[in-house]
Order: sequence, then C-alpha cells, then structure tokens
Amino acid sequence: LPPEIFGNRLNSAGVDVADRNIRADILAKLDEMKTHQWSATPTVLVDEGGEEHDVISPQDPDDVVGTALYPTSDDVDLAITRAVNAQRRWDAVGGLARADILESAANNLEAHTLELISLCRREAGKTLIDGILEVREAVDFLRFYASEARMQFASPMPLPGPTGEENRLRLAGRGVFATISPWNFPLAIFVGPAAAALAAGNTVIAKPAEQTPLIAAHAVRVMHEAGIPNDVLQLLPGGGEVGGMITSDPRLAGVAFTGSTHTARAINRSLAERDGPIATLVAETGGQNAMIVDSSALPEQVTRDVVASSFQSAGQRCSALRILYLQEDVADTMLKMIKGAFEAQVIGDPADLATDVGPVIDAEAKQGLDDHVANMRERGFRVWQRDLAPELQKGSFFAPAIIEINSIEDLDKENFGPILHVVRFKGAELDKIIDEINSTGYGLTLGLHSRIDGTRQFVEAHAKVGNFYVNRNQIGAVVESQPFGGEGLSGTGPKAGGPHYVARFATERVTTIDT
Ligand code: GLU
Repeated sequence: LPPEIFGNRLNSAGVDVADRNIRADILAKLDEMKTHQWSATPTVLVDEGGEEHDVISPQDPDDVVGTALYPTSDDVDLAITRAVNAQRRWDAVGGLARADILESAANNLEAHTLELISLCRREAGKTLIDGILEVREAVDFLRFYASEARMQFASPMPLPGPTGEENRLRLAGRGVFATISPWNFPLAIFVGPAAAALAAGNTVIAKPAEQTPLIAAHAVRVMHEAGIPNDVLQLLPGGGEVGGMITSDPRLAGVAFTGSTHTARAINRSLAERDGPIATLVAETGGQNAMIVDSSALPEQVTRDVVASSFQSAGQRCSALRILYLQEDVADTMLKMIKGAFEAQVIGDPADLATDVGPVIDAEAKQGLDDHVANMRERGFRVWQRDLAPELQKGSFFAPAIIEINSIEDLDKENFGPILHVVRFKGAELDKIIDEINSTGYGLTLGLHSRIDGTRQFVEAHAKVGNFYVNRNQIGAVVESQPFGGEGLSGTGPKAGGPHYVARFATERVTTIDT
C-alpha cells in the first residue's frame, strides 16, 4: 500500500518482557498503582443524581479499584442529543482526517501502556501477558481501522455509466452508534468497535461492561487527549439498565455489541421495537468451540495448543476451546500429556509473570463454573480438577478442570472459564462429529490437529465456523491477519479486524449527474 494510505500502521510494538529493565518498569508501575483510585463518569452530566458503584478487583475483594457513576435517564438523553448534534461535523471531517486522529489515539494508548496493564490486572484479573496483548490489540484495531478509513472513505468510488452520465458511490457515517462491550477484553473490545464506528464517520456512545468501566474510562480519557472530541466519543458506564436506556432510544443508527447470545437477542428486540431508523446490529456472541485431534497429530504440539486454547486468560475468551475430540487410539497418550501440562499450570497472582491462570471475573462467574463441575460429577462424568492454594480462596479464583464426556450433547451451554471437556472418537466418525458441532448452532472457532490434507479439506468444507485453526492453538486472533468472528448463534459478522468491518458502520450514497 502507498504510504499515504498505509499511514504509520505497524503492529503495536508491545512490551518485551524478556528485557529485565522493562520487566522492572512494569513491576514498579504495578506497585505504584496498587492503591490508585480510578473513576468512571459519564462524559457529560445533567446532574450528579446517578448511582455510584464500587468496582472490586476479582483477585481481592478488599481491593476497591475505583468507582463508577452511572448516568440517569436525563444524562443518557443529553449524551445522545450531543452525539446527534456532533455527527454531521465529524462525518464532514472526512476519512483522511479521522484516520489521523485515530492514529494519534493509538499512539497515545501505546504511551499509556503500563497503567493500562495495571488496570487490566486489578480490574479484570488479567495476567501481565494478557494485559500486554490487550493493549497491543486495542492499538492494532485503531491503526487498522484508520487505514480502512483512508482507503474507503477518502474519496468516492467512480461507477460506470453511459456517455454524459457520471456515477459515484461514497460511504458516510450512519449517525450515532452505541458500542456495548464485554469485560473479558475490557480494553481491546471496548476500543475496537468504537474505533470502527468513528472511522466510518459516526459518533459513539460507549457503554463498557459493568465489571470493567475504569479501564474504559481511562481509554476514553487517553483518546480525548489525542484529539477525538468529547461529543464524538462519549462514555456511559452502567449495567443492563443503562444499556436498555441507550438501545431503546429512537435516535440510534446502530449498535455494536459483544457479549452473550441472550443479550444480543434482547438488544435486537429493543432496536426493533422502538421508532426511528431500522438500526444496524453488529453482534459478536458466544461459542461452543471444539478441537479435533487425530492420530497423525504431533502430541507435544497438541499438548501445548490445547492448554493455551483452554486455560490461557482463565478460559475467558469466546474463542477458547471447550470440547476436545481425541481419536480413540491416541486418546490415552494425549490425555496423559495434556493432564501433565495442566497440572503444571501456575494458578495465582496475575501480577506474577510466572502465573498462567488468574481469577475469573467475579464471584458469580466462579459459582457458575463450580456448579457446572458439581453437576458433571453428579452425572457420573470423570473430572480432574486442580486444588487451589489457601491464599486464593479469598478472590474469585476457580480451580481449572478437565472433564471426560461422551458427546458434545452432554453440554447444555457454553461454560465460560478454564474447563476443558474431552470426547473420544473413532477415526471413521469425522462427518458425525462435524454434524454434531454444527448442530450446536454456534460457529465461532474450531481447531484441528492433523497432518492429513484430506481431513483438513473435509473439515474446512463442512464446518460452519468463523475461524478455523489448523495445527496451532485457536485463540488470539491478530488484527488483519485473522479477522475474527462467528456465524449463527455466535454473531452477525462482519469480522473484527477484517476488511469488511468498517463498511458495516457506514451507509452507501450514490450520486448520478447528467453532465
Ligand atoms: N479475539 C479473541 C481471540 O481470538 C476473542 C475475543 C472474545 O473473546 O470476544 O481469542
């Protein structure tokens, strides 16, 4: 790409934890920010009448990370009025200028990496490595969508026509977009959809998950500082009630949501029932992700990739592996190796670089996972579960588990945490397995470990999934290289970090001139 389009779009530099000095800087920053009190407030307020909520660290119930002030319905109304009024100007700024501003926002986020890592840890219980990856992904989203704005929004596309007629198509912002984002990527998936909506010329009302408003508020601060006007990007902290106030407003042009399938349906209903424009919904929801391992796979590689796919980020990725299919003749050997690596996972303080698995997001999430394991034991399935060190009993730590089941049909829902289910299969059953996986209705990620081309081709042709990973782990999609998102119950598309994403936030306008 020519430099005027490519801009300075390099992948985010990240943080080199192999460098002792850098490691020391991170640890010093974590220490300095250990008791810092953060706050999240609506960008504009009519009154101070909203409720205040403490944000508690998942790792330690005594650590109050800060407070979030929720908006009243008057505040929500004012926020949307301001967003409506600011939109035409932001759209008129044009794709090139918007791209420059988004790139400044990316650079400024990168400059604030250390405190963002600290917030990832305290507010969301993320390990340092996950915190670093999180900042990198947010920066990559901003840079990638900036370059998309340059490519797609800078000038109209000429279209054919007879002599004497000029036709051209241009993309414009739809209006005001609400972005409703999840706690599991409290920075990357807060910033990503907002960046895409902004790149397309919309103004944005951003509502982070109620568990993680503080890192979102800090990101908004940093992005405002980089030149995104206050009325163009506004923060509204809150839970489902605030979300409902936003999505029922007839002035919204669309919503970008990441979270549960259940909530996506509720948002869809709310958008359909209100007056106003037929709104766009971009939803990225759950998964029931499998990996198939046949007897041609390399055991060491399988072990590494299964453990990363199931247990990294405490299994709290919608891409994470939930059901591992092992071909019967290698199942015992593979399972033994996987259990060995599982036993070696370090569960503990996310601030410790050696930690593999930190806490789950809150006590409710932990309870849900505990209930699932208890239920599976009761139903007679074989369970291997780690013990938790006594000092971890205080936070919302969950002891990771492996559960052997007979079929994917033994599971009635997605279990969002560090639990791996294992099913044994016979070599001749591949098509049956693909049918079973497809019949869950989800279609997010699928892994395959096989050295047989025919097997890969068969799975690729028949599996209805958004992201298919072969002979590697199935998490950690990289912006632009692995555009991410599913189909069916897993989401509407388009894929985050992909070439069609930003355009979904835009409307197409055609001008025809008789010359
Ligand atoms: N993009 C992330 C990944 O590839 C998952 C996003 C999510 O959990 O919503 O692991």
